[in-house]
Amino acid sequence: MKYNYFDEKREKTPWNELEKNIIKRGQWTLKRLWDNIPFLKKRYQEANVSPDSLKTIDDFQKIPFMSKQDFLDSFPDKLVCVPKEDLVRMHATSGTSGHRPTCGFYNQNDLDNWTYLCARNLGAIGMTKKDVFQNTTSAGLFTGGFGYAQGCTLLGAMLIPFGPGMTSRQLEFFKIFKVTSFHAIPSFGLRLAEVMEEEGIKKEDLFLERAILGAEGWAESTRKTIEERLGIKAYDNYGLTEAYGPGVSCECQEQNGLHLWTDYFYPEIIDPKTGEVLSEGETGELVLTSLYKEAMPIFRYRTGDITALRKSECPCGRTGYMIDRIKGRKDDMHVIKGVNVYPSMIEEEIFNLSSYFTDTYLIIYHTVGVMDQVTVNVEVKTGINAEKAKRELEKKLLEATFLRIDVHTFPPGALPRQPGKAIRYIDIRDRPEGYKGWLKMMQEGQGSQ
Ligand code: ZN
Repeated sequence: MKYNYFDEKREKTPWNELEKNIIKRGQWTLKRLWDNIPFLKKRYQEANVSPDSLKTIDDFQKIPFMSKQDFLDSFPDKLVCVPKEDLVRMHATSGTSGHRPTCGFYNQNDLDNWTYLCARNLGAIGMTKKDVFQNTTSAGLFTGGFGYAQGCTLLGAMLIPFGPGMTSRQLEFFKIFKVTSFHAIPSFGLRLAEVMEEEGIKKEDLFLERAILGAEGWAESTRKTIEERLGIKAYDNYGLTEAYGPGVSCECQEQNGLHLWTDYFYPEIIDPKTGEVLSEGETGELVLTSLYKEAMPIFRYRTGDITALRKSECPCGRTGYMIDRIKGRKDDMHVIKGVNVYPSMIEEEIFNLSSYFTDTYLIIYHTVGVMDQVTVNVEVKTGINAEKAKRELEKKLLEATFLRIDVHTFPPGALPRQPGKAIRYIDIRDRPEGYKGWLKMMQEGQGSQ
């Protein structure tokens, strides 16, 4: 394969140079926080560390973490390290109900670096200045809209800043303006495929080649559906407002994990329970240190996102670290018989057997005697042998998790459905009536909670 790059030389920076940069820029970031953020300086002093403590990569482990709570406590702008008049932009997450949004502030250098990294992402998925790029996310508070608008402009491709919704009209634009690439959240990718079918638009009628998708979890099977139905390659990317936004990591044309731009961010993986740093390839919580952020740097920031890390051996030649697709939030993780279980692992196996099961499922964590147990409730499609489907899924779940997980089958429409965000799992390990009690309650129609 011939690989495309936005900045080939820097994306292939030799390891020893990357490592030197991580230490040098890490010191710079730590000093910035030490000098400007009193509560962090106090935290570092209490841990007996200072910016001088950072001499090798291993020294990162001595430095206390930053957390989401620090952002909430510092709301709105107490983590800003530059004079207020130097700020040129602010973005924010929506904040879940009753919670404060997480704010990101940028000075001009931050904005330039962020733009550059988003251009790198678009280059990595194969875009050049010849492409036409439709951004289907809003250029508003969320980082995805502006981030990719800026990145696309720096790359030199033509930007259509369409914004969200109006699916039919988006498809019309795809056709009229010969759009080759688009940015969306994965569920909108699926929506586009649905509306194409409804309106009789064939993938051959369009000029699409690729999409960059992210900002919500998506299963590998969702990727396959979008790719087949739109006739494109769909690439994953991951970023967060605390780290500019998108532009932290992105898949390349190999689609074998996400390249994390290691000249801008130093990643670690920790055990979310103990905070202990895990080895390469082990799954845990992603921790990020920014190396160039000026207005709002982060040092060993616990993202809450679960993935695994490894050094790149990608055929594209990009150096630095790679991460797996995000497996979920640490809040979704359950430890069952010493094994970390994420709903996404189970969902993946259910969706892979989509010829057997509907999209509605419910995972129940419960106790049998003193043992923690997982039971997966699925709906078997009409005409499918439920016993065979059950055995097949149990086998796949055992292979994926190394746990014996019971599968309980229901007819289509039998499981409770929630308006809005779907509930994927319920933890009733503290309830003495256990799974049987839940089942009885559910079947009596008293709701799933
Ligand atoms: Zn690659």
